[in-house]
Amino acid sequence: MITVMKFGGTSVGSVEALTRVAKIIINEKGQKVVVVSAMSGITNFLVSAVEESKDLNDVINTFRERHLKVANELFSGELLEEFMKEFEKRFDYFKEVILDEEMRKDPFYEDNVSSQGERFSSLLLSFVLRSMGAKSVALTSEMAGVYAVGKPLSGSCDLTRTADGLNVNVRLLLNDGIVPVITGFYGVNEEGKPLTFGRGGSDYAASAIGNAIDADCIQIWTDVNGFMSADPRLVNNAVTLTEMNFSEAAELAHFGAKVLHSRTIEPARLKHIPLWVKNSYAPENYGTLIHHIRGQRKEPLRSVAMKLDLSIITITVGEISYKPAFLAKILEKLSEAEIIIYGISTSLSNIALLVHNLDVKKSLALLHMLDSIDIERINVRNNMTLICAVGDGLLNRCGFCGDVFGAVKAVGASVEMISEGASEVALNFVVSTDYATEVVKTIHEKFVNGRDAI
Ligand code: ADP
Ligand code: ASP
Ligand code: MG
Repeated sequence: MITVMKFGGTSVGSVEALTRVAKIIINEKGQKVVVVSAMSGITNFLVSAVEESKDLNDVINTFRERHLKVANELFSGELLEEFMKEFEKRFDYFKEVILDEEMRKDPFYEDNVSSQGERFSSLLLSFVLRSMGAKSVALTSEMAGVYAVGKPLSGSCDLTRTADGLNVNVRLLLNDGIVPVITGFYGVNEEGKPLTFGRGGSDYAASAIGNAIDADCIQIWTDVNGFMSADPRLVNNAVTLTEMNFSEAAELAHFGAKVLHSRTIEPARLKHIPLWVKNSYAPENYGTLIHHIRGQRKEPLRSVAMKLDLSIITITVGEISYKPAFLAKILEKLSEAEIIIYGISTSLSNIALLVHNLDVKKSLALLHMLDSIDIERINVRNNMTLICAVGDGLLNRCGFCGDVFGAVKAVGASVEMISEGASEVALNFVVSTDYATEVVKTIHEKFVNGRDAI
């Protein structure tokens, strides 16, 4: 039995958290592969160091202090000495990355800097396990053989290569009863450089590692009791779901439920590996089991998420419905820049596309390269948020959409775009960001509140 156990930033962010987590790992039976995020706040700190051109010596010193303070509280004697040896090796590389002018020109520079935190949190946790008598080694993604492909800051895991890598570098450790603690967040690209999976990417890394090593179970340990009916920071009476199926969790994660990185579900789903979301602060809580099937429920709505920072681009082409080749050209053009389309809606002469704000400029430039005779007009609406409502057979429930849109109307918002029918479990629609939080709260209040764990 192999269990992949992933711990997020707050779960490894302090002496107390690291100690609590090490106990959770030791209590787990069977073979264990641990995957970690950087200590809380570290990735943000590194990203801001790059973006705001901070004083590099300050960056280096602050980073060193944060990790060593924790190490000095946790370790002493020989173990501290051994830790320091490993630490200094990693720290020399960290300094090189931060200070080397040449590296800064590399397109993967930000990936390299922002993924440095995981190299140190994995080392800390591995030594805490050792201090408690467990056998453990800290592995970077390079050492474990986690491979990635794709553009800077948005890599995908190469599952086949990673399976080969883990078979060589990790499987033998497991057979010897050693617990590897692997860096989450990034893999190694074709050029041998760190390529991150996007912010929050350690969940996805854990799922990919679970897939590649044929794990029996993947556990995502975080700071809440499981996958909830809404973001608890937004909706204070959100409830924990005890069970979800892969499609429900995948839709919600893709459309903004921050508890899981947007691409976490697919690697697990591909190999039918159950995924648990659990609370590292309260391990006795059941958490949420995400798997292929789940019992039928009578509640229409299970969870609602929102994705901010989107824009609707509407392209008007006379009778575009009768010009399928032109429609294809539009999508092909946008795919050249790998622009993610979060929603699409067509009418006789219009196509509306929902894209991230950061992709609007690039999308417009690409669309303007198309035959301008055909395009009559392009209109952009910014400040949009997609609401994703997930539930059992939503579409078969007579009047459900009407009720949801009634709630939208009640807060004075209007529905700017709808995507319904593509997924069996999700109803997606777009509202102005000004109303989004109120819409989520109202829908939650109307369809979820007043029930216990569901
Ligand atoms: P970690 O550092 O463990 O990866 P994150 O901060 O990335 O943790 O994700 C956990 C947070 O996700 C929770 O504290 C919660 O505020 C937020 N969240 C958003 N949507 C949900 C949801 N549907 N269920 C649970 N938590 C959610
Ligand atoms: N440390 C990375 C981040 O903050 C990855 C993660 O935590 O999942 O984005
Ligand atoms: Mg996270």
